[in-house]
Amino acid sequence: MPLDLELAPIKDRVAALNNELGDAAPEDVLREALQSAGVGLTAMVSSFGAESVMLLHMLSRIDRLVPVLFIDTEMLFPETLSYQKELTCTLKLNSRVITPDRAKMFERDTDGLLHRNDPDACCALRKSEPLEQALSNFDAWITGRKRVQGGVRAQMQVFEADGTRLKVNPLANIAAQDVQAYIDTHNLPRHPLVARGFPSIGCAPCTTKAKADENPRAGRWRGMEKTECGIHLKAGPADHNTTSGVAE
Ligand code: SF4
Repeated sequence: MPLDLELAPIKDRVAALNNELGDAAPEDVLREALQSAGVGLTAMVSSFGAESVMLLHMLSRIDRLVPVLFIDTEMLFPETLSYQKELTCTLKLNSRVITPDRAKMFERDTDGLLHRNDPDACCALRKSEPLEQALSNFDAWITGRKRVQGGVRAQMQVFEADGTRLKVNPLANIAAQDVQAYIDTHNLPRHPLVARGFPSIGCAPCTTKAKADENPRAGRWRGMEKTECGIHLKAGPADHNTTSGVAE
């Protein structure tokens, strides 16, 4: 009897979806995920960073009503805030800006320097907790992560379990040059900091330029062991190979 994806446990849905779409083109993954009963109510999460426009453009051509969650940590570059507004307007996205809880920020980051003393706690306060709250009404979320970004992302699957929620990574399989080729083909605007030497862009205090011969993410939390903000570090309850130890 075929698996009823809507009712199946998350580890079975992840396995079935990866079996069906694990090698599919990004547009096909995105389209099928948004229509699959096994995925459910879905939001895209975007940093509006260096390469985000590729997936945002795909979404705009498939379903503009899908919410695009953007976490404004209040530590972002002003160029990122402008770019988010520009892309939301030109691609007609259903963007939702998520901000950290003000009372918690006052209590836990009074002087705005938590990122220097405890960056993991800062990312939890400004990114992970607001995102978890924003995702609480969704069954699944879409990310722009790629295996070529290396580190813990190198092993990720197109579909993953994120607790009881599904995570969809349509760009997991693409090659680095595919991003630029897509952007060129569709004449899409790049984040203005890319031309100024930032191939990966997060919060301003934690992002530096990267040289051409470095990993594009080398400028993130430079000099620290930290390589991820934490929003992708939660392992699924039944599949320890999903996001283990692992945004745009
Ligand atoms: S990237 Fe830096 S400033 Fe942004 S939330 Fe994390 S530690 Fe804080």
